[in-house]
Parts: sequence; structure tokens; C-alpha cells
Amino acid sequence: MKYFILFGPPGAGKGTQASSMAAEYNLCHLSTGELLRKEIAAGSELGLKAKSLIDAGALVPDEIVEGMIESAFRTTTGVSGFLLDGFPRTTAQAAALDSMLAKSGEEVTAVVSIMIPDSMIKERIRHRAAIEGRADDASDETIDNRIRTYHDKTEPLVGYYREKGKYHEIDGTGTIEEVRAKIFSLMGKL
Ligand code: ADP
Repeated sequence: MKYFILFGPPGAGKGTQASSMAAEYNLCHLSTGELLRKEIAAGSELGLKAKSLIDAGALVPDEIVEGMIESAFRTTTGVSGFLLDGFPRTTAQAAALDSMLAKSGEEVTAVVSIMIPDSMIKERIRHRAAIEGRADDASDETIDNRIRTYHDKTEPLVGYYREKGKYHEIDGTGTIEEVRAKIFSLMGKL
């Protein structure tokens, strides 16, 4: 099995690119953000716990997302691999992922990082807010907190995966088609 991590700041276009990547390479797209939003919509206990944190632009506890990922790994069949979107988001989650995979003698295949400057993050999220209506896209304060959380907790993963020789970065500032072409050209070599 291949395990790709789609990495990048909020609004970089991970969700947008993930569906064509999953289709092209027969991968199961696992977005922890999407899974959490489904739990919230269903009114589950987990969703209730996550909602206030997500609305504040904070991260939900590691154990929650790790449990969701592990159960998806266990129950998904018929794919060549997984495309992780929004996970791991902390070095603790990255270590948990490594040990989850090590149990079956597997490892992360590669990290595909879509990079955009901070100045573009807000513009992209505002545009998305008008289309998708996500609660955590609606307030400037929440967006600022997500950007801060990204730099504090998630960006250290760049070094984590770079040291392992698994980190590949592409420029996410172009059009959807331009970014997709760059991703496919990279994935073809991995
Ligand atoms: P974006 O791509 O805009 O960052 P996501 O849909 O990936 O949005 O995530 C939305 C929110 O869900 C995050 O701000 C965070 O609160 C929560 N979340 C998603 N994935 C994780 C994770 N791996 N660990 C902790 N919280 C997460």
C-alpha cells in the first residue's frame, strides 16, 4: 500500500486537488477535516467535542483524529493506497502514524506539499467561504488562529519529513489546472 500525505497551509487547495489525485492513482482520500465535519453534522458525541475547537481555529485532540485514521485504514479495501489530507497535523500525530504503519511493516511513501504564502491564505479562504459556507471559514479571528496553529504546530512537520527524504514541495499559487499538472508530474516520479 502507498501512503501519501497531502500537506500545506489552510486554503492551499488540498481538498480541491485530492479528488483528482485519488482518482488518478486509485487512492482512498481521507480528509480528517471532512470526517470531523460529518461527525458534527450527524450530531455525534465526537462531533460535539470537536465543534467548539474547530470553530475557534484550534486543533482537535490527537487521539480523536488518530482513531479516525486507524479505523479507516482497517476498513478500506480495493485501493492501491491512501491520500491523507489534513493529517498528520502535529509531530505527535506523525509519530503515531509511523507506529500505526510500522505494525504492518509499512511506512509513509511521500509527502506532497502545496505551498502558498500567508498573504494568499486569507484570500483563498474568503473565496471558499462564499462557495462552501464552512463555519470555520466565516470569521477573520478563526482564520487567523488557523494560520497561527499551522505555523506553530503543523509546519514543524516539514523538517520531520525532509529529514526522512520524503518531503516534496510544489508551488500552489497557480490555477487549479497548473497546480494539478505539477502534482501529477511529481507523483509520476514517486
Ligand atoms: P483546512 O484545510 O482549511 O485547514 P481542514 O478541513 O483540513 O481545513 O480542517 C478543519 C479543522 O478540523 C481544523 O482547523 C482543525 O480544527 C480540525 N482538524 C482537521 N484535521 C485535524 C488533525 N489532523 N488534528 C487536529 N485537528 C484537525
